[in-house]
Amino acid sequence: MRRVMNGAARLTRRMGRSLRRRTLERLLERYEAQLDACKRTLRDDVPASGADVKDEMDDGFDHLVRAVGVALMEASASTVRGIESALRRLKRGTYGTCADCGRGIPAIRLRVLPFAERCRECQQECDSMVQLPLMVVGA
Ligand SMILES: [Zn+2]
Repeated sequence: MRRVMNGAARLTRRMGRSLRRRTLERLLERYEAQLDACKRTLRDDVPASGADVKDEMDDGFDHLVRAVGVALMEASASTVRGIESALRRLKRGTYGTCADCGRGIPAIRLRVLPFAERCRECQQECDSMVQLPLMVVGA
């Protein structure tokens, strides 16, 4: 009886993992489509500079559209990278384990951020290290 229950628990775990994997794969597909759409928008809506004569306001607007497009693209690209990395970790069996401290990432955090690579504490530490050079550049 005990063995049967253990088997069932294992099966449930495995099913849960494949379900999570399918969810992540769907997310990845969606973000990739979004990324493609972003690239298309950027290419189609923003003519190459010098294509026609414009006044200053048009130039400013073009610049803004381009900047927003690039920011969106970068955000999507990093999301795709995050999901790809989550899928790799899922294959390796390290999904849900903090990449820095090796502790389990709380389920509630994974529900909000399915491709979280670190627990909140380690992510905050990581973010503060990433933000430092950015702040210097932005100043
Ligand atoms: Zn951690």
